Amino acid sequence: MNMDNPKIFSAVILGGGIAGISAALELARLGQEVALVEKTPFFGGRAANFCCKATDACQKCGACLVDDRLKALFQESRITLLPHAELTGCSRENGLFHLVVKQQPEVINPEGCVDCGLCYEECPAADKGAILTTAVTQNHPRYAVNPGACLYFQDGSCHVCQQICPPTAKAIDLARPAKTLELTAKALVVATGYRPSDPRCRPHYGYGRLPHVVAGYELEEMLRNGKGPGSRGAELPRRIGFIQCVGSRDQEHPYCSQVCCAYTLRLARLLKHRWPEAEVTSFYMDLQETGRQSPQFQAEARREVKMVRALPGDLHATPDGRVKLRYLEEDTGQPATADFDLLVLSVGIGPGEDNPALAALLQAELTPDGFFQAADPGQRTQTSQPGLFLAGTAEGPRDIAGCISQAAAAARQVSRYVKES
Ligand SMILES: Cc1cc2nc3c(=O)[nH]c(=O)nc-3n(C[C@H](O)[C@H](O)[C@H](O)COP(=O)(O)OP(=O)(O)OC[C@H]3O[C@@H](n4cnc5c(N)ncnc54)[C@H](O)[C@@H]3O)c2cc1C
Ligand code: SF4
Ligand code: SF4
Repeated sequence: MNMDNPKIFSAVILGGGIAGISAALELARLGQEVALVEKTPFFGGRAANFCCKATDACQKCGACLVDDRLKALFQESRITLLPHAELTGCSRENGLFHLVVKQQPEVINPEGCVDCGLCYEECPAADKGAILTTAVTQNHPRYAVNPGACLYFQDGSCHVCQQICPPTAKAIDLARPAKTLELTAKALVVATGYRPSDPRCRPHYGYGRLPHVVAGYELEEMLRNGKGPGSRGAELPRRIGFIQCVGSRDQEHPYCSQVCCAYTLRLARLLKHRWPEAEVTSFYMDLQETGRQSPQFQAEARREVKMVRALPGDLHATPDGRVKLRYLEEDTGQPATADFDLLVLSVGIGPGEDNPALAALLQAELTPDGFFQAADPGQRTQTSQPGLFLAGTAEGPRDIAGCISQAAAAARQVSRYVKES
């Protein structure tokens, strides 16, 4: 970026998840120059780590939409990608946003790196997070040096990755400095996403204490990376349970997360499809029909998955290593128990961890639940501040397809705003 003659971006987008990517692609399609600022070294956000849930037929979970858009992102010349970067300052003058963005040292040069992974394999501090990597193959590079844990950045004592990087690539320069960028933009889009509800919010479900209790996003990642139930070397759990609404519709999170019913049923059907001998049970309060989930989908799921309308009570480890769960039968009101080899907590969507600090920096408002406040009741893309727009789960819970369509609507509004301003 030429800092002597700084260009004015039509928009700077904060957050490189599916919402930020979709807004950036739509703006580029409309002929606008944009910058996409992503806090981590990699693009795609949370959903990039989720698995395809197709059985014999596509279950329309939307995971592949993220892969497709990531591929398009890396081919789009109108989008300036700023990974490993965060907004540290914001002011406005004559309607323009003046932004200060701090970017971590780009130690690995994308033009040289061939994604061979040697640096990661040989790094003596890889287990401490000195080199970060992503399994999402659409990203490039798929490796990034983390100055917070790298030995070179602590005391200059290590150059292993720079030495091991193949001479044909010569991609690593540990001396590359961090950058402070000053960006000017006509509009700003907040697409900083969400934080999954903490599975420990219901301590009696034993997350972190019982080894066979996992969070929904962990099962998603395991299945995406071929490490889930039934993978080579792993024993296939015969009885798998899901508990829905963990971190949704309770005192702390009074809202419905919109996505947990759908992803639970899709994961449950996927497991049943892969291992028909497994028994899959889901405990739920109400089944929401949201997004691309139809009544027919729910009826099919009920044929394959045992649906129990109950809020389970305590979980305990059994002597043979399973988990025992107590609940009240809906019909009889009688206490019942069930044993599981694997129990999945279907956690919901909570507000992003940066929301309070970011809202203060941008002088934006948050809802009582902690999401960014939209001023328009329709597509919920505009704030009360002209030029400041919202996309995706930064504004509130929605699924991948919902993020894509709402982010595209935000982009069209940005484009109109930019032309009129
Ligand atoms: C367990 C689980 C399973 C799910 N499964 C499905 C499913 O099967 N199908 C489906 O449709 N939906 C599913 N969802 C919902 C889906 O994850 C979201 O709809 C989608 O990921 C939201 O995208 P986003 O871009 O709004 O946010 P994110 O994916 O959270 O992306 C936000 C990005 O912004 C970055 N960021 C954060 N703060 C900053 C900052 N200050 N500066 C710069 N960058 C920042 C983050 O690093 C991240 O890359 C699931 C949700 C959960 C919890
Ligand atoms: S060793 Fe070099 S080329 Fe290989 S992944 Fe690391 S930086 Fe890229
Ligand atoms: S300098 Fe050493 S510690 Fe730092 S990333 Fe390279 S190999 Fe790892």
